[in-house]
Amino acid sequence: MEAGQTSPIIVAGAGIAGLTAALAFAARGFDVQVFERSPELRQVGAGLQLSPNATRLLDRLGVLAGLKPFAVQPPAIVLRNASDLRELARVPLGQMAEDRWGAPYLVVHRADLQGTLLAAANRTPTISLATDSDVEAFQSVGPGNLAATVRTEGQRRRYEGALLVGADGVWSTLRKGIVSGLPARSTGLMAWRRTISADSPLIRNLFPDLTVNAFLHPGFHLVAYPLRGGSEFNLVAFTSGQARGEDWRVAADAAPLRKALGETASPLAALAADAEAWTAWPIHTVDPARPWVQGGDFALIGDAAHAMTPFAAQGAAMAIEDAWSLADAYDASPPNGLASSLAAWEQTRRLRIQKVARRGAFNRFVWHAAGPVALARNLVLAARPAKSLATDMDWLYGHDVSSS
Ligand SMILES: Cc1cc2nc3c(=O)[nH]c(=O)nc-3n(C[C@H](O)[C@H](O)[C@H](O)COP(=O)(O)OP(=O)(O)OC[C@H]3O[C@@H](n4cnc5c(N)ncnc54)[C@H](O)[C@@H]3O)c2cc1C
Repeated sequence: MEAGQTSPIIVAGAGIAGLTAALAFAARGFDVQVFERSPELRQVGAGLQLSPNATRLLDRLGVLAGLKPFAVQPPAIVLRNASDLRELARVPLGQMAEDRWGAPYLVVHRADLQGTLLAAANRTPTISLATDSDVEAFQSVGPGNLAATVRTEGQRRRYEGALLVGADGVWSTLRKGIVSGLPARSTGLMAWRRTISADSPLIRNLFPDLTVNAFLHPGFHLVAYPLRGGSEFNLVAFTSGQARGEDWRVAADAAPLRKALGETASPLAALAADAEAWTAWPIHTVDPARPWVQGGDFALIGDAAHAMTPFAAQGAAMAIEDAWSLADAYDASPPNGLASSLAAWEQTRRLRIQKVARRGAFNRFVWHAAGPVALARNLVLAARPAKSLATDMDWLYGHDVSSS
């Protein structure tokens, strides 16, 4: 595709997927117009694990150096029994991850990642970003030309672009434009999240270093990792629980969290003392088998296309891979071959997304196991050298989306 086209790439949503897409298209010479529904980009979210398959792309976009001061490069991921804190397995990260997978494994606050991407977008003259702008609908107006209806400042306006990238999250409006009747599905699981000062006595003894710890228990697990140079810790625990609306953060009775933590070793159980400090995030997924593209002028990316459970810690990483690879595919396409280029992109991405989602389902099964399955898990993990656990992750963390 020839860059320097007159119609811009329109991006709906300035989350991780949308901002990465804006930077990826701008880096290939396209003009980009981003519309974000929120009046301002709020500090939404908590911690994210960013694996090397994503950080290598952030590096190519020139944003990794700016992110690193906010991030932590943990030395390892350690799996532990929640009932007695016993170590079950350890996957070395730190320099080992960087050497093995060619980019660092980082943990970072979502707001810091979004802020770093936003700062890079603001520095890029070919990217314009409008907040308080809700992309409500779209229609094709000819090959490679699309009109988006945007409600902004209380008025409906029409914007034409060469491509509309729907990066509008799990409750996507734009998904309804190509697949009617595909709502996000509630998984019946609740993520409980909080960040807490590393100076808190609750944290100091439990987490003496910068390791990512996952505590496993029948029907429950809790992951803890440092953020912001180790000054804070991110805690995320998973129980069953139902959503009460379309928002990431909802008010919920913390009884399931209190009950689950009550069954764990006392230093973990102590985290339930102020259960009100935790926020509830109902987990929704979107069926990745449904269409993400339409013709040569519309594509869904990130959670809008395929929100997945967080058990492989890959939602943001997949959003970043989508954004980069879509810009690659679009840029490499001849102008009269855009529809087939986007269809081929969708097919390649779907295989990867489905494999990652299966890994998440496997992690959930293994981590929440009880009785003999948990016993077998512990024996298998104890028998495996750390290097072989790292080898298991090569297909995921060692992947370079540019070469697929
Ligand atoms: C508990 C939990 C833990 C997680 N942990 C990890 C992890 O460790 N690692 C990881 O990689 N991922 C993780 N994830 C997943 C990750 O947070 C998401 O996959 C990722 O943030 C999705 O990014 P997105 O840009 O697609 O969507 P979003 O971040 O939801 O962004 C969508 C944006 O679009 C805007 N918008 C919505 N509708 C419109 C519209 N009509 N017009 C214009 N703008 C619109 C919204 O306001 C928002 O700004 C986790 C998720 C959860 C719930």
